[in-house]
Amino acid sequence: MERIKVLIAGSGPAGYTAAIYAARANQAPVIYSGMELGGQLTTTTVVENFPGFPEGIDGTVLVDNMRRQAERVGAEIRTGTITSCDLSSRPFKATIDGNLTVEADTLIIATGASAKYLGIPGEQEFRGSGVSACATCDGFFYRKQDVAVIGGGDTACEEAVYLAGMCRKVYMIVRRDQMRASKAMQQKVASKENIEVLWNSLPKEVVGDLKGVSGIKIEDKISGDIRTVPVSGVFLAVGHHPNSEVFAPWVKTDKDGYIITELDSPRTNIPGVFAAGDVMDVHYKQAITAAASGCRAAIEADRFLQGQ
Ligand code: NAP
Repeated sequence: MERIKVLIAGSGPAGYTAAIYAARANQAPVIYSGMELGGQLTTTTVVENFPGFPEGIDGTVLVDNMRRQAERVGAEIRTGTITSCDLSSRPFKATIDGNLTVEADTLIIATGASAKYLGIPGEQEFRGSGVSACATCDGFFYRKQDVAVIGGGDTACEEAVYLAGMCRKVYMIVRRDQMRASKAMQQKVASKENIEVLWNSLPKEVVGDLKGVSGIKIEDKISGDIRTVPVSGVFLAVGHHPNSEVFAPWVKTDKDGYIITELDSPRTNIPGVFAAGDVMDVHYKQAITAAASGCRAAIEADRFLQGQ
């Protein structure tokens, strides 16, 4: 069976940065990319807060640069997802796509987070035909139409601004009387004439027929009134959940599934297993903090291997 010194799960900023550091430490890292090559940055538009790019940089380009950098310094990047693992003893065992099993001396879990859904009627029925969790992926299909974005965080604002550039009207459905998003993102929303924010509004149901979505039913939290906002696309931006399920039988997670690491370190409860990026980050969830934690995980993995 193949034995890998540093096995990295996930191909976002955390995984690629871990790979760059581990490769330069001569630890021959291998990344299994996971289902979403490049992670969440590939679903975003311009990234303006990653240092080093004064004009901003397209998220897909940024993460692809990271991949090329990791490969250039010697990391091996493979397509495949770790579908199960045995972390009870070293070397650890990881099974890829349910068939190939590899051994690993250390494991860096950088599997990120995935979009949450609301669980309201119509949502799953119209998923892919009117309901989406990625405006940059699917916005194109709603050109010159009316759409709704659910949520009041940075992602919701980003999606609304992006959609405002191609759709006729964008409704932002925000459940409170204020947004969680940064002031900068809120200002961008306010600057778009074709975005209307519907405050104190609870999404109740996605409605439509065989042709697709025709509206979203919302409840006014103050008056209790229910009405249908006529839209042909509903974009969800209500947060993410950490992709830790495969590792959760072994590593400690909190009630929401975030991997618990030792204070101020990427170390998990299992020596030799480290976590980096959104899968362990309850608070910051930025590309730059993910990259930084990938760096720390690789340094710790190298120290662990040196100490063996
Ligand atoms: P988030 O900050 O957790 O925001 C989720 C939003 O969805 C909140 O407005 C929340 O409302 C709302 N929501 C949650 N459940 C809901 C429900 N059942 N019904 C209706 N609304 C619901 O998630 P995010 O926007 O994806 O951002 C995640 C992290 O990534 C944040 O740290 C953010 O700063 C970061 N991010 C940064 C950038 C950037 O800097 N360019 C871009 C995107 C994301 P409440 O506020 O009432 O809870």
